[in-house]
Amino acid sequence: MRLAQHYAQLPELLYAPTEPTPVADPQWIVFNHDLSGSLGLNPAWSGPEGLAILSGQTRLEAPHPLAMAYAGHQFGHWVPILGDGRALMLGQHQSPQGQWWDIQLKGSGQTPFSRNGDGRSSIGPVVREFLASEAMAALGIPTTRSLAALSTGQPVQRDVLEPGGILVRVAQSHIRIGTFEYLARQGDVASTQALLEFCVEHYCPLLPRRASLALDWFEWLVERTAKLISAWMQVGFIHGVMNTDNCSVVGDTIDYGPFGFLDAFIPDQVYSSIDQAGRYAYNQQPAVATWNLARLAECLLPLINDCPDKAQAAAQEVLQQFPSLFNAAFESGITRKVGLNPNEPAHVKVAMGYLDLLASNEADMTLAFRRLGTVSIQPGTADESVKALFDDPQTFDAWVQAWRFHLAQLDQTEHERQASMNQVNPAFILRNHLAEQATKAAIDSMDFEPMKKLHALLQTPFDDQPHETSWAGPPMPEEQVLTTFCGT
Ligand code: AMP
Ligand code: MG
Repeated sequence: MRLAQHYAQLPELLYAPTEPTPVADPQWIVFNHDLSGSLGLNPAWSGPEGLAILSGQTRLEAPHPLAMAYAGHQFGHWVPILGDGRALMLGQHQSPQGQWWDIQLKGSGQTPFSRNGDGRSSIGPVVREFLASEAMAALGIPTTRSLAALSTGQPVQRDVLEPGGILVRVAQSHIRIGTFEYLARQGDVASTQALLEFCVEHYCPLLPRRASLALDWFEWLVERTAKLISAWMQVGFIHGVMNTDNCSVVGDTIDYGPFGFLDAFIPDQVYSSIDQAGRYAYNQQPAVATWNLARLAECLLPLINDCPDKAQAAAQEVLQQFPSLFNAAFESGITRKVGLNPNEPAHVKVAMGYLDLLASNEADMTLAFRRLGTVSIQPGTADESVKALFDDPQTFDAWVQAWRFHLAQLDQTEHERQASMNQVNPAFILRNHLAEQATKAAIDSMDFEPMKKLHALLQTPFDDQPHETSWAGPPMPEEQVLTTFCGT
């Protein structure tokens, strides 16, 4: 059970060596054997020794665990120091494929960055992050992963006392835009350069070199982030708290807090209880990602060019590509979701028209795409299954005529088209009410069966799973979740 500690190579102001604080009675909730197997982890991690280390009862002799420093813009406001207030980086493991993975504990006790926080996590957010990260991975969306969820046997004081938990998070990186901001806003250009070189060396060693290292890397991340946001939005995901400290520098989804998935397609939907102004609404996500990347660009300016005007112009030129990168990825994704050809502008238009239709009918996004896969080129009963999702079913008739017209030009069988649509239109997503039910069972009665059931279901989200249709649809009115909480 050996780990490396790459972050110890970074400038010292970026981390604080910190011990985990032991807990009363650690128990496994879930150990993710599939993930562990694919990472080639030593089986001892899933046994008593692993439990002792991951709960903070004992420590690996080496390396020393670290809490990482970062700053960030939270809801647009600058916060000069945040950092891992309740998380610890144990170190990195190398998979048989040669890739390095961070192993981080979330909820492992106080650190020098805890401010007034207890350094702990309630079991609710542990269940939510475990489910969300694993569901996103199964959907093929870049994300941090969850190796295990633990209960600590130690309550935490939130609005009420709640059982405590620890999430064991695995990720390519835990460096955030806020990590760059932490250094750059102190005017520490040399450390910012060291952080940049670390990111390139560890996360994109094959980065094509065209301009300055900083500009090339920024361009790489702009593209990755545009694709990430597009992937989120194709499945109706709302991150909920896209502060710069929750924005990864490898283009992965990180820090699942008050996230949600759209049921009805309502483009300006907000679920997060802390987002009163709708800054992080579903359809604001591309604009907010651009804003966050602009904060990163500010940090990189001195590394791009000695002349501030030239540096700014170069960074701006790269950042200006974001909307077209995002639109291209999103439009082609939506066009594939309706089974048409993304290279045909007329097909893209029809596909985007379907989204407009879903919006005006407040139709369930997931079902509307999945059921469209069953609609055939000839009108039939499947048409009714889509229309049943619409407030005004007749609006489907005109659209479906145009869709059929374009479909007829494609050189593929109905079966092939349906199969390829099913590969991009999940039958199952982590609907908010399902996440809520699993969380509530965990908090109220330490019942983790609903969580495990959902986890299993969401491992194969593109399969029909005919016995599980009750998990496929939107909530009943009494099950609806109107607000999601950060719930640290
Ligand atoms: P998050 O909302 O998880 O992105 O966290 C924002 C900041 O608050 C980070 O610096 C966290 O480490 C810190 N934080 C959140 N919860 C706690 C807690 N219970 N104890 C200490 N710090 C916390
Ligand atoms: Mg965070």
